[in-house]
Amino acid sequence: MKKGWEAVIGLEIHAQLSTESKIFCGCSTRFGDEPNSNTCPVCLGLPGSLPVLNWRAVELGARAALALGLRVNEVSIFARKNYFYPDLPKGYQISQYDRPFSSDGHLEIVTAERDEGGHAREWRPFEVRITRLHLEEDAGKNVHEGLPRTDLYSYIDLNRAGTPLAEIVTEPDFRTSWEAYDYVNHVRRALQWVGASEADMEKGNLRCEANVSVRRVGEEKFGTKVELKNLNSVRFMQRAIEFEIERQIELIESGGRVAQETRLWDEREACTRVMRSKEEAHDYRYFPEPDLQPLAVNADWIEQVRRAMPELPDARRKRFMGQYRLSFDDASLFTRDHALADFYERAAAASNPRGAANWLKGELLRELDAAGLAADASPVSPEELGALVRAIDEGRISGKQGKDVLVEMFRTGKGASQVIEEQGLAQVSDAAEIEKIVTDVLAANPQQLASYRAGKEALFGFFVGQVMKASKGKANPKVVNELLKEKLKAE
Ligand code: ADP
Ligand code: MG
Ligand code: ZN
Repeated sequence: MKKGWEAVIGLEIHAQLSTESKIFCGCSTRFGDEPNSNTCPVCLGLPGSLPVLNWRAVELGARAALALGLRVNEVSIFARKNYFYPDLPKGYQISQYDRPFSSDGHLEIVTAERDEGGHAREWRPFEVRITRLHLEEDAGKNVHEGLPRTDLYSYIDLNRAGTPLAEIVTEPDFRTSWEAYDYVNHVRRALQWVGASEADMEKGNLRCEANVSVRRVGEEKFGTKVELKNLNSVRFMQRAIEFEIERQIELIESGGRVAQETRLWDEREACTRVMRSKEEAHDYRYFPEPDLQPLAVNADWIEQVRRAMPELPDARRKRFMGQYRLSFDDASLFTRDHALADFYERAAAASNPRGAANWLKGELLRELDAAGLAADASPVSPEELGALVRAIDEGRISGKQGKDVLVEMFRTGKGASQVIEEQGLAQVSDAAEIEKIVTDVLAANPQQLASYRAGKEALFGFFVGQVMKASKGKANPKVVNELLKEKLKAE
């Protein structure tokens, strides 16, 4: 950022909650069905229909709130947010306004600036204040299909109308695009981790808007903010924020003023463009939804939801660092998702924490990522990875051979022992067997033996080589070394 300037950023995230049916009716939330096939009088907004709250959406909303460090409020109120748009047949969206489902979050994340190559510099803790997480319904979709000018047609698909969303709004606490980036990734992982949302930006079940303003360092008053939309990935969002900060600084320095507006990110041109001016605040004429009771949950229920949740990612990272002595980077990597964390713990239990960590991060994860597979779809089970680590630790195969064995295990789904046996890799560690080879080698090389005993110790390597050759490379080098030392010395 240009010297003397500071950016102020606040984020709004809409996450689709992973329910099977919609928030106020029984229609399916399935994606990709025939347009308008998952609709009924409620989500079509027909007169006389009444909404009924889907309790599963409340449960998942509570999981999301607790995973992000918010307080779940015992009473919240649904409200009508009135606006006219073709994809909103009721003329209002059921949302929450002055009494949201949850509020006052303090979320600790870790963040780091990145260098030119996108590599994180030093990680530091960073606290984000989350203003609120409230429940609401999604709108439908305007669809434009066909060919421009010849056969273009548009229609409205209401399959998405009534899908439950959690809207998560932060205070304007971010000062850099990377803080915002790390926050969104943190939220995505947390929501996936507790099963509240798939939180996949590419599928559109996590949408993100960034509010960006700039001010001179030392200035207390916030500048005029611009709202950025069309951010289809976390990386696009980061780039859009970065561009917008520079744009606003240049504009002000050249005597202009930032207009309050909504801008869209154009990834191809790498710039933001005006979508609409927001000079006047929208007046949504919020009022309490008369067709729904206030939403009441009690402390016992909130506690029950909390207890049913898995150990959260950051707690698990901390535990991994203590219990398995993993570095911060390794522990962060293994808590990237729930399945991977489980995988690591099982592999560590089947072998040892250090070996499992090295082979998971160095070898198996590379194969998984290249194949686009999650840890729970790995053709190599954690127990088999553990078996491979043990085979190496016990000297049955070398580390170098282990890499080939793993690739073969990954390709065929076979177990470690089976691959080692099939490839005839098993090292000979049996001392009696190696001793016999050593004796033969010494007997076959009387001259070298005499020189060695006369002080030419450099010949040690020669004997090792001969023994390895005689064993066709299968003798365990450690055992060979020990036996040779003993036999060469003895008279
Ligand atoms: P609006 O009514 O325009 O939606 P809100 O007050 O609800 O504005 O804030 C929306 C988001 O914008 C929040 O995340 C908030 O933290 C952020 N925000 C508010 N003011 C600023 C500002 N001056 N610069 C950057 N972000 C801001
Ligand atoms: Mg807003
Ligand atoms: Zn419906």
